Amino acid sequence: MKKILIFILFLIFITGCHAKEEVGMIMEKSEHSMISIHYPITHIKKIDKKVKNYVEEVYSNFQENYVSGDTLQPELNIDYTYDFYSERYFVITLFTYINDYSFDTATTDVFSLVYDSSSKKFLTLLDVVSPNDWTILLEKTKIKLMKDYENELNEQKLDEFLGDFPVKNVYFSIHPNDLTLYFLGSQISDFDDRFFAISFSSSEIPFTLQLESSVAINYEEILETESSIDPTHPVVALTFDDGPTSYTEKILDILKQEEAVATFFVLGNKVEMYPDVIRRIVEEGSEIGNHSYNHKWLSRLSVNEIKWQVDKTQEEIFSITGKYPRYLRPTYGSINKRIYTATSLNVVLWTIDPKDWKSKSSKEIAKDVYEVVEDEDIVLMHDNHKRTIDAVSILIPKLKELGYQFVTLSELEEVKKLREFY
Ligand code: ZN
Repeated sequence: MKKILIFILFLIFITGCHAKEEVGMIMEKSEHSMISIHYPITHIKKIDKKVKNYVEEVYSNFQENYVSGDTLQPELNIDYTYDFYSERYFVITLFTYINDYSFDTATTDVFSLVYDSSSKKFLTLLDVVSPNDWTILLEKTKIKLMKDYENELNEQKLDEFLGDFPVKNVYFSIHPNDLTLYFLGSQISDFDDRFFAISFSSSEIPFTLQLESSVAINYEEILETESSIDPTHPVVALTFDDGPTSYTEKILDILKQEEAVATFFVLGNKVEMYPDVIRRIVEEGSEIGNHSYNHKWLSRLSVNEIKWQVDKTQEEIFSITGKYPRYLRPTYGSINKRIYTATSLNVVLWTIDPKDWKSKSSKEIAKDVYEVVEDEDIVLMHDNHKRTIDAVSILIPKLKELGYQFVTLSELEEVKKLREFY
């Protein structure tokens, strides 16, 4: 009973804190356990959710593995460091310490995140250490780890782990004068109940946080527009090719009503015709991609011709939205080397094609998506048929029922990155 009560209090603590209080806290003293948890509250949804997930996970593992076991008054402590600087970067590290007094050493764990409130992205090591400096980072990481933790590492595991660097899960924190890397015990040693940390000064490893060129951010705007995608739940990206057309607004109406977003692969020559639609797509949180200027079969063109198709469309879109698209979907889904030579845009196809261009009913189109849909799918449709609009109005509620969140391609990429990283 007491545990339930404490857990409820805990939930109130971590979900109900809307005041400008910046520290979340759980303190529990009982004959069963001692708990002291402190964590930062930033009021940036994305960050707070991650921190909360971590704290919740540690808390429930502790209850399960220690409190309900027969250890004598185990202790759980979570503490943190939190820096916000240049009006731009949030750097948060949480340290977990568990001591059940049955062993000489305590169990430790770490969790960290670096968030750029300007790009609204969590940074990875790739964002702060240039690829040119990776070799030196790897070398120095190994030397430093071996020096500081000589007898505690499993060198074979360490080599394997560093071999895959940086794709794997490496927590880090960054400050104007130092970069700290955290390794979980299971990654590089035979201990899975502790972590290892090493720090570099900027003279040892060149790292950047663009601290000087800080962009003044509108804090309120972040709070309002912060995306609330939960990476632990399935996502799907709807995409529409060949527009904009007079039907595109209808799709935007449905998206707006359903609070969903999509990605529109537009043709450069139509962009000039529908500037308001282009503007609206961006304003309402959806994304614009490049689908060539006039739907030439790109893979059959020369490098220079492809380049013209792509670049001209980029400029058309930029002139209206002030943003360059990040993705190219080649016409007819046809890709070859020349396309990659002609452009550095990310080339994206799809994973579900309900063939909405064929004469089939809206119900069939919708069904051909929701019956096969899986997490992270990219759905190809076209915003130039009436039946597609009707299909979308059937499809979106159905996908919601199945628990799907709608993401743009950039958001999909971000979700994938988060899932890989954490
Ligand atoms: Zn097309």
